[in-house]
Amino acid sequence: MPIRRSLLDTVYASCERAFMTQFPDYQRSNFVEGEGSDEPAPTVMVIGEAPGAQEDVKGRPFCGQSGIILRMMMAHAGLHMPTPKRAGNAWLTNVVKLRPPGNRTPKPEEIELARPYLRREWEAIGEPSVIVCVGNTPLIAVTGWGSVSKRATGLPEEHTNSNGDRMWVWPMLHPANAVRHPTMQPILETHWEMFADWFSEWPF
Ligand code: URA
Repeated sequence: MPIRRSLLDTVYASCERAFMTQFPDYQRSNFVEGEGSDEPAPTVMVIGEAPGAQEDVKGRPFCGQSGIILRMMMAHAGLHMPTPKRAGNAWLTNVVKLRPPGNRTPKPEEIELARPYLRREWEAIGEPSVIVCVGNTPLIAVTGWGSVSKRATGLPEEHTNSNGDRMWVWPMLHPANAVRHPTMQPILETHWEMFADWFSEWPF
Protein backbone atom coordinates (compact mmCIF):
# COMPACT_ATOMS: atom_id res chain seq x y z
CA MET A 1 0.00 0.00 0.00
CA PRO A 2 1.23 3.55 -0.71
CA ILE A 3 1.49 6.28 1.89
CA ARG A 4 -1.41 8.76 2.19
CA ARG A 5 0.28 11.74 0.51
CA SER A 6 -2.59 14.23 0.73
CA LEU A 7 -3.04 13.54 4.45
CA LEU A 8 0.69 13.98 4.91
CA ASP A 9 0.59 17.34 3.11
CA THR A 10 -2.23 18.49 5.39
CA VAL A 11 -0.32 17.38 8.49
CA TYR A 12 2.81 19.25 7.40
CA ALA A 13 0.87 22.42 6.55
CA SER A 14 -0.89 22.42 9.95
CA CYS A 15 2.36 21.71 11.76
CA GLU A 16 4.16 24.60 10.06
CA ARG A 17 1.27 26.97 10.81
CA ALA A 18 1.20 25.92 14.47
CA PHE A 19 4.93 26.48 14.90
CA MET A 20 4.95 29.85 13.16
CA THR A 21 2.02 30.99 15.29
CA GLN A 22 3.30 29.73 18.65
CA PHE A 23 7.04 30.19 18.17
CA PRO A 24 7.59 33.24 15.99
CA ASP A 25 11.31 33.26 16.94
CA TYR A 26 11.75 30.30 14.58
CA GLN A 27 13.39 32.16 11.67
CA ARG A 28 13.77 29.46 9.08
CA SER A 29 14.41 29.09 5.36
CA ASN A 30 12.48 25.85 4.93
CA PHE A 31 9.99 23.62 6.63
CA VAL A 32 11.74 20.25 6.40
CA GLU A 33 9.28 17.49 5.51
CA GLY A 34 10.04 13.83 5.99
CA GLU A 35 11.15 11.80 2.99
CA GLY A 36 11.35 8.16 2.02
CA SER A 37 9.45 5.30 0.53
CA ASP A 38 6.09 6.30 -0.99
CA GLU A 39 5.14 2.92 -2.35
CA PRO A 40 5.36 0.52 -0.70
CA ALA A 41 4.76 2.38 2.55
CA PRO A 42 7.88 2.29 4.69
CA THR A 43 8.61 -0.53 7.12
CA VAL A 44 10.81 1.63 9.37
CA MET A 45 10.50 5.26 10.48
CA VAL A 46 13.78 6.92 11.45
CA ILE A 47 13.25 10.08 13.50
CA GLY A 48 15.80 12.79 14.29
CA GLU A 49 15.59 15.85 16.48
CA ALA A 50 15.29 18.92 14.22
CA PRO A 51 16.90 20.26 11.05
CA GLY A 52 20.39 21.77 11.26
CA ALA A 53 21.88 24.47 9.06
CA GLN A 54 22.23 22.36 5.90
CA GLU A 55 18.77 20.88 6.26
CA ASP A 56 17.29 24.35 6.75
CA VAL A 57 18.89 25.58 3.53
CA LYS A 58 18.16 22.51 1.42
CA GLY A 59 14.76 21.63 2.92
CA ARG A 60 15.69 17.96 3.36
CA PRO A 61 16.19 15.92 6.54
CA PHE A 62 19.68 14.72 7.39
CA CYS A 63 21.55 16.13 4.42
CA GLY A 64 24.53 17.56 6.39
CA GLN A 65 27.45 15.95 8.20
CA SER A 66 25.29 13.92 10.62
CA GLY A 67 23.16 12.86 7.68
CA ILE A 68 26.13 11.37 5.82
CA ILE A 69 26.85 9.15 8.83
CA LEU A 70 23.21 8.29 9.49
CA ARG A 71 22.39 7.45 5.88
CA MET A 72 25.50 5.24 5.67
CA MET A 73 24.51 3.37 8.86
CA MET A 74 20.97 2.96 7.55
CA ALA A 75 22.14 1.59 4.21
CA HIS A 76 24.44 -0.92 5.92
CA ALA A 77 21.52 -2.02 8.08
CA GLY A 78 19.27 -2.61 5.07
CA LEU A 79 17.24 0.60 5.38
CA HIS A 80 16.83 2.19 1.99
CA MET A 81 15.49 5.43 0.62
CA PRO A 82 13.81 4.95 -2.76
CA THR A 83 15.81 5.62 -5.93
CA PRO A 84 14.59 5.59 -9.53
CA LYS A 85 15.90 2.02 -9.76
CA ARG A 86 14.90 0.58 -6.40
CA ALA A 87 11.96 0.80 -3.99
CA GLY A 88 12.76 1.98 -0.49
CA ASN A 89 11.68 0.67 2.91
CA ALA A 90 12.44 3.61 5.21
CA TRP A 91 11.07 7.04 6.10
CA LEU A 92 13.39 9.72 7.47
CA THR A 93 12.03 12.67 9.38
CA ASN A 94 12.47 14.91 12.44
CA VAL A 95 10.33 15.63 15.49
CA VAL A 96 10.60 19.40 14.96
CA LYS A 97 10.62 20.31 11.28
CA LEU A 98 11.92 23.85 11.52
CA ARG A 99 15.46 24.72 12.53
CA PRO A 100 15.45 25.84 16.20
CA PRO A 101 16.92 29.29 16.82
CA GLY A 102 20.69 29.08 17.33
CA ASN A 103 20.56 25.38 16.47
CA ARG A 104 19.60 24.56 20.03
CA THR A 105 17.87 21.38 21.19
CA PRO A 106 14.08 21.75 20.94
CA LYS A 107 12.49 22.90 24.20
CA PRO A 108 9.92 20.71 25.99
CA GLU A 109 7.04 22.90 24.83
CA GLU A 110 8.24 22.64 21.23
CA ILE A 111 8.46 18.85 21.45
CA GLU A 112 4.94 18.80 22.93
CA LEU A 113 3.62 20.93 20.07
CA ALA A 114 5.32 18.70 17.48
CA ARG A 115 4.20 15.42 19.04
CA PRO A 116 0.63 15.10 17.67
CA TYR A 117 1.86 16.03 14.17
CA LEU A 118 4.57 13.37 14.38
CA ARG A 119 1.92 10.87 15.37
CA ARG A 120 -0.25 11.90 12.39
CA GLU A 121 2.79 11.69 10.10
CA TRP A 122 3.36 8.13 11.38
CA GLU A 123 -0.32 7.32 10.62
CA ALA A 124 -0.14 8.85 7.13
CA ILE A 125 2.89 6.76 6.18
CA GLY A 126 1.14 3.53 7.16
CA GLU A 127 1.95 3.17 10.87
CA PRO A 128 5.30 1.40 10.58
CA SER A 129 5.91 -0.80 13.60
CA VAL A 130 9.67 -0.21 13.75
CA ILE A 131 10.83 3.22 14.89
CA VAL A 132 14.47 4.27 15.18
CA CYS A 133 14.87 7.25 17.51
CA VAL A 134 18.01 9.18 16.66
CA GLY A 135 18.78 10.94 19.94
CA ASN A 136 16.68 11.71 22.98
CA THR A 137 14.23 14.19 21.44
CA PRO A 138 12.48 11.57 19.27
CA LEU A 139 12.57 9.05 22.11
CA ILE A 140 10.70 11.55 24.27
CA ALA A 141 8.31 12.45 21.46
CA VAL A 142 7.46 8.82 20.68
CA THR A 143 7.42 7.15 24.09
CA GLY A 144 6.91 10.03 26.52
CA TRP A 145 9.00 11.82 29.08
CA GLY A 146 9.42 8.81 31.36
CA SER A 147 11.84 7.26 28.90
CA VAL A 148 14.47 9.99 29.11
CA SER A 149 16.74 8.06 31.44
CA LYS A 150 16.91 5.08 29.09
CA ARG A 151 19.00 6.88 26.49
CA ALA A 152 20.67 5.15 23.58
CA THR A 153 21.12 1.49 24.32
CA GLY A 154 21.35 -0.15 20.93
CA LEU A 155 18.56 -2.47 22.10
CA PRO A 156 14.91 -2.42 21.01
CA GLU A 157 12.08 -1.69 23.41
CA GLU A 158 8.49 -2.70 22.88
CA HIS A 159 6.20 0.30 23.12
CA THR A 160 2.41 0.57 23.07
CA ASN A 161 0.95 3.95 22.17
CA SER A 162 -2.25 5.48 23.54
CA ASN A 163 -4.29 3.74 20.81
CA GLY A 164 -2.94 0.37 21.81
CA ASP A 165 -0.70 0.11 18.72
CA ARG A 166 2.43 -1.91 19.47
CA MET A 167 5.79 -1.04 17.98
CA TRP A 168 9.49 -1.63 18.38
CA VAL A 169 11.44 1.46 19.35
CA TRP A 170 15.22 1.61 18.93
CA PRO A 171 16.88 4.35 21.01
CA MET A 172 20.04 5.24 19.06
CA LEU A 173 22.87 7.69 19.57
CA HIS A 174 22.62 10.81 17.47
CA PRO A 175 25.39 10.79 14.82
CA ALA A 176 26.29 14.35 15.89
CA ASN A 177 27.85 12.65 18.95
CA ALA A 178 30.26 10.84 16.65
CA VAL A 179 30.97 14.06 14.74
CA ARG A 180 31.81 15.90 17.98
CA HIS A 181 33.47 12.97 19.80
CA PRO A 182 35.10 10.51 17.38
CA THR A 183 35.51 7.99 20.25
CA MET A 184 31.71 7.54 20.09
CA GLN A 185 31.86 6.30 16.49
CA PRO A 186 32.51 2.61 17.40
CA ILE A 187 29.57 2.67 19.85
CA LEU A 188 27.31 4.10 17.16
CA GLU A 189 28.51 1.45 14.71
CA THR A 190 27.93 -1.34 17.24
CA HIS A 191 24.37 -0.16 17.89
CA TRP A 192 23.61 -0.08 14.18
CA GLU A 193 25.15 -3.54 13.72
CA MET A 194 22.81 -4.80 16.46
CA PHE A 195 19.92 -3.18 14.64
CA ALA A 196 21.06 -4.76 11.34
CA ASP A 197 21.16 -8.25 12.91
CA TRP A 198 17.71 -7.78 14.38
CA PHE A 199 16.21 -6.24 11.24
CA SER A 200 17.59 -9.01 9.02
CA GLU A 201 15.05 -11.32 10.73
CA TRP A 202 12.14 -8.87 10.33
CA PRO A 203 9.18 -9.50 10.27
CA PHE A 204 9.37 -11.96 13.14
N1 URA B 1 20.15 16.42 13.08
C1 URA B 1 18.86 16.02 13.19
O1 URA B 1 18.43 15.59 14.25
N2 URA B 1 18.09 16.10 12.10
C2 URA B 1 18.53 16.53 10.92
O2 URA B 1 17.76 16.55 9.96
C3 URA B 1 19.87 16.92 10.83
C4 URA B 1 20.67 16.87 11.93
